[in-house]
Amino acid sequence: MTRTDGTAIKIALVGVGKIARDQHIPALAASDAFELAATVSRTGGIRGVENYKTVEALLAARPDISAISFCTPPQVRYAGARAALDADRHVMLEKPPGASLSEVHALETLAQDKGVALFATWHSRHAASVPAAKAWLSDKAIISVRIDWKEDVRVWHPGQKWIWEAGGLGIFDPTINAFSILTEILPVEVHVTGADLRFPSNCETPVAGEIRMDDPSGPLVTAEVDFLWEGDPLWRQIIETDGGTLALNQGGAVMEIDGQKQHGEAWENPAIHGEYDGLYARFAELLDTNTSEVDLRPMVLVADAFTLAKRFDAPEFVDPSLMEDSHAG
Ligand code: NAP
Repeated sequence: MTRTDGTAIKIALVGVGKIARDQHIPALAASDAFELAATVSRTGGIRGVENYKTVEALLAARPDISAISFCTPPQVRYAGARAALDADRHVMLEKPPGASLSEVHALETLAQDKGVALFATWHSRHAASVPAAKAWLSDKAIISVRIDWKEDVRVWHPGQKWIWEAGGLGIFDPTINAFSILTEILPVEVHVTGADLRFPSNCETPVAGEIRMDDPSGPLVTAEVDFLWEGDPLWRQIIETDGGTLALNQGGAVMEIDGQKQHGEAWENPAIHGEYDGLYARFAELLDTNTSEVDLRPMVLVADAFTLAKRFDAPEFVDPSLMEDSHAG
């Protein structure tokens, strides 16, 4: 997407970890709307891009950078995002947008007061078949929803200790992607009624569980989630309606109706495809109109699951990549 006045917006990335390297940096390189002008990284950032150790140092040195995209873990995002908004910069937040709902409400209020844009992103909503699924469901009566969100944390999040610390969400780090799609495509509102969550004895966040939701007419959604699922990940929602059964597979990439593929391509490597191009295109649109977009419904479902959950013990979780590190050290 090219901006109407032809100039690229200077943007900084905060936190150069897995998602910054895998998705944000390539998406920014492909975008005409943005120019990656600096990073904030404790560990050096990216070769050839100016780096600052703290958000405050960046804000002081680079008044020309008008947008800041945060890719840090949710537990450490608030202070930097607040400082950026306070300094009149537009802010984009990775999912989940913060460690708590109240934190994000506070950022939303600050963005409004300062007259800048806050974009709480949900990358899975930009998966290829999500708009088609939303359109197909819009005139259907929903009978049931079955979500399976199962992946191997040792493959997809090696060494990420923050996931297992309070605020890191554990299995809800990926499951919130399922809930972001669910709240986007369903023509009815749902609310959590109960959950069973399994917590490893050495972790502060859950590794697996089941979450149940109702719509106003009764039970509707069952989600089974598992962070120790071996083999190909299962990122699937099956929605039974009065007009047929819709299956959204590969995290929203592929849509089937009654077993027939309708839309999207199955990827050999079932990672994220094209979603971050969509996110940055949307951020550019929001900046053109100086508008915020903060939809907290996926985060409300996760918070309610924690509130209502029965807690069960699970075996200790050992991250093999950290064991290798400690042996190497
Ligand atoms: P990560 O690999 O652990 O990277 C996070 C980066 O944040 C670190 O590399 C570090 O970068 C910086 N950081 C600053 N303070 C930190 C602290 N106290 N602890 C750890 N890192 C700190 O995590 P990630 O997978 O990129 O995830 C970051 C966010 O993106 C999360 O909210 C996650 O849910 C979201 N996300 C991840 C994925 C994925 O597949 N991994 C997909 C979509 C969204 P510096 O060394 O540069 O300071």
